[in-house]
Amino acid sequence: MRDSMRAGNPPLQLPQFQLYQPKPTHPNWQEVYREAAKLAWNIAQNIDLKRDPLAGTIFQKRKFLALIKTLKNLFINKRKMAKNDHNFNPLFYIWTMTNQCNFLCSYCSNHRGGKYPELFRQGLTKNLTTAQGLKLLEIMKEASAIYFCGGEPTLRKDLPELLNYSTKLNMFNMINTNGSLIGDLLLNPRYSKFLSQMDVVIVSLDALNISQMAEIYKVNEPLSRKVLRNILALRILQNFVHFKLIVNTVITPDNIEESFDIMNWCNDLGICFSPVSANIDHDPDYTLLKNPRYQALVEKILERANQGYSMIASPRMLKRLLRAKGILCHPKVFDHIDYDGRAFWPCKAYQQAVMINIFDYKNVKEMHKAAKKIIDATNFHGDGANQCQGHCAWMQNVVNDTYARALIQGFFDSGILNEIRGMMG
Ligand code: SF4
Repeated sequence: MRDSMRAGNPPLQLPQFQLYQPKPTHPNWQEVYREAAKLAWNIAQNIDLKRDPLAGTIFQKRKFLALIKTLKNLFINKRKMAKNDHNFNPLFYIWTMTNQCNFLCSYCSNHRGGKYPELFRQGLTKNLTTAQGLKLLEIMKEASAIYFCGGEPTLRKDLPELLNYSTKLNMFNMINTNGSLIGDLLLNPRYSKFLSQMDVVIVSLDALNISQMAEIYKVNEPLSRKVLRNILALRILQNFVHFKLIVNTVITPDNIEESFDIMNWCNDLGICFSPVSANIDHDPDYTLLKNPRYQALVEKILERANQGYSMIASPRMLKRLLRAKGILCHPKVFDHIDYDGRAFWPCKAYQQAVMINIFDYKNVKEMHKAAKKIIDATNFHGDGANQCQGHCAWMQNVVNDTYARALIQGFFDSGILNEIRGMMG
């Protein structure tokens, strides 16, 4: 495929499906693929093609430095854990860059009972300026990774500048997008470095049936179809630039059958699949967990993970995530910063979370030191008095659980190094 692109011809052949069985309600894949190939071809003319021979390996300078930071913080946090102090140096941070979104997904949740686009409509619109965004990145640079989120992060006009700076700070960069705008944005010269800087691109996809997508996202069908075109274009662009493409599916009672299809589609196309069951505020959807079709889906996901198909995490982590069992949440493995530069302490899902203005601090360590005096995050998760009362089962909870286990059990026994390698690879 790469050769045909380099020779000046976009690849027009859709790879053969083996596991995925197209349904009459699904789009004509040849047509979507043809559009994706054309788009990818046009984007490829715009991409910075100076290839780093080490891209895609942990020896790429930026990734290597991020890894060193991760290991340094692992040792520091191991000492904290030994002293029963759970106010860790953060592994990564999530930045809700804006509440604005051009979708209104049925399952959308800000983990506190709100939906981002509605919060935006209610007036929570005062996003950080570019200068403040750059300052935020500077303050948070002790973390190894940043997760650009929203709302819809691609709605921020200064995303390329902010990404440029986090790259300069040797951060490992991740983004979660609804995938509707990214294809057209990548044609813009300001986005020429985007794919070589963004290490992980996570695109939400909750159905392959376009009218069902439109219903879930509350948008029109052409925009829903664009998401599929853009995912396929990104997949083609992986021939040019190294980045990890992940498709994230939020499983709800309404899209279980479509989730089977998305998994098969991803597995056939070699796209990393990230399944997560919808939560309701700070609890899993227990009715969904008991649904026999959901349970069959989880079995299939675990089977595929064990067979080596590309998945966001190991079978061990996926099992805890999708069955929402045995997650020992340690919320201070990461920080969650809101659109206005305030961090939720100790976690966003806790209704009485304290909001810390991170601009009051020189760096993240100082911010944590001050916040710890207000609420100590040690043994914060649980059902006891003074504990969170939550049972969140989002990916971030399973990540912080796995990280905390590594601090207790040791880095090799816990499998943390493999999880990190899987994400970075
Ligand atoms: S500490 Fe409790 S409320 Fe906070 S994210 Fe973890 S489980 Fe949810």
